[in-house]
Amino acid sequence: MTRDLAIPDGDHTEPVAAQDFNDKYEPKEVLGSGVSSVVRRCVHKRTGQDFAVKIIDITPERLSEEELEDIYSSTVKEVDILKAVSGHPHIITLIDAYESSTFFFLVFDLMKRGELFDYLTEKVALSEKDTRNIMRSIFEVVHFLHAKNIVHRDLKPENILLDDNMNIRLSDFGFSIQLRPGERLRELCGTPGYLSPELLKCSMDESHPGYGKEVDLWACGVVMYTLLAGSPPFWHRKQMTMLRLIMDGKYDFSTPEWEDRSDTVKDLISRLLVVEPEKRFTAEQALAHPFFQQYDVEEVRHFSPYRKFKTIMLTVLASVRMYYHYRRVRPVTTEILLRDPYALRAVRRLIDGAAFRIYGHWVKKGERQNRAALFENTPKAVLIQMAAAEYDEEEDEEEEEE
Ligand code: ADP
Ligand code: MG
Repeated sequence: MTRDLAIPDGDHTEPVAAQDFNDKYEPKEVLGSGVSSVVRRCVHKRTGQDFAVKIIDITPERLSEEELEDIYSSTVKEVDILKAVSGHPHIITLIDAYESSTFFFLVFDLMKRGELFDYLTEKVALSEKDTRNIMRSIFEVVHFLHAKNIVHRDLKPENILLDDNMNIRLSDFGFSIQLRPGERLRELCGTPGYLSPELLKCSMDESHPGYGKEVDLWACGVVMYTLLAGSPPFWHRKQMTMLRLIMDGKYDFSTPEWEDRSDTVKDLISRLLVVEPEKRFTAEQALAHPFFQQYDVEEVRHFSPYRKFKTIMLTVLASVRMYYHYRRVRPVTTEILLRDPYALRAVRRLIDGAAFRIYGHWVKKGERQNRAALFENTPKAVLIQMAAAEYDEEEDEEEEEE
C-alpha cells in the first residue's frame, strides 16, 4: 500500500504511518462510529488543540481480500474528494491523513456539537427559522459540490455536523463520487430512508438509464421534511413497502404539526420530493425559492428598492398560489372537537404540552409518523436483495393470512 494520502497543506508529503499519528496526537473518547471506522476526539500534543480522527480499520485478518480492497479504494477516494473540497465554510476540513498496514487515520476539525441528528432528537422538531439557516448552508454546499460534478450520495442528519456556533459542516464523503462528463451512476448506495426513486428503480431495472446528481436534492427534501416534522416522510415497518412509497413519491403533509408550518416551506419540499429527477429543483433553484428570500442579510446590505419590490411581489404571488394549493379550511365544530380534537390547533397545543410533560419527546402520532424510524437508518449501503427477500417473506405471510 504505497498510495500517497498526504494532503497538500498538511505536514506530510510522503505516506506516513500510524507511529507518526501517535507521535503527534493523543487519541481520546469515541465520538461516533460506522461499519469499519470509529471517530475519536484527539489532542494535538504540541498545541493541546482538539481534533477528530476517523480511524479506519484495514486489519487483514479481520477482513476478506475483497472487503479489504473495497475499504482501501473507497478511503483513497474519500481522501481525494476531501482534498478537492476542503476549505469550503460548510464542509469538514481534513487536516492530516496517515496510513499504516492496519489503519487509516483521517484527522478533521472537531465539530463540538456533534451531529444534526442529535440536535434534532433533542429538539424533537426544528423551527422554520432554524431549518432555513441549516438548509441554506446545505444547499450552498450541494451547489458547490455539483458545480464540481461531485455527488455526495449520503446526505442525512447524521452526516451534517455542528460547531459551537451552530454552523453546519457536511462530512462523510465515503460514498461521494466525481462524475465524468455525461457519466450516469448505477451503484446502489446510501441510507434507505434517503434513497431517491430513480436510484431504487435503477437497481431493480437493468434497462434504466442510471441516476445523477439529482439524488442529493431528493435527500435534501427528505432532510428538510424530517427537520420540520421530527419524523421522516417515507416510512413503513416493512422496508420493501417503504421503498415502494419512495418510488411512488407517496408522502404528505397531512399530520397535524404541518398545519402550523408555512405554505412556503411545504412548497419548497414538494419541489424537491419530485419523483422525476429532471423536474426536481436544483440547489440553485432551491436557494432562489421564496423560503430563502425571507430575512436575507445580503439583501439588506446591498439594498435596492427595485429588487426589494420585485422580491415582495414575487413572494406575495407565490404565497397566494401556495395558499390555495395547500389550505383546506376546516370548520370548527363540536363534532370535530369530539371526533378529532387533535385536528384543532389550540387543542393540539394543549394536548402536546401535556403529553410532552409526561412522556418527554416520545410522542407518536398516527400510522405513517414514526420518530423511531429516524433511528432505524442503518448506515451504509442497503442490499436490495435483502429487501427483496424480506418482500418475498412478507408476500408469503400475507398469503397465509388470507
Ligand atoms: P462513517 O463513514 O463511518 O459514517 P463518519 O465520517 O460519518 O463515518 O463519522 C461517523 C460519526 O462520527 C459521525 O456521524 C459523527 O457523529 C462523528 N464525527 C465524524 N467526524 C466528526 C468531527 N469532525 N467532529 C465531531 N464528530 C465527528
Ligand atoms: Mg456517516
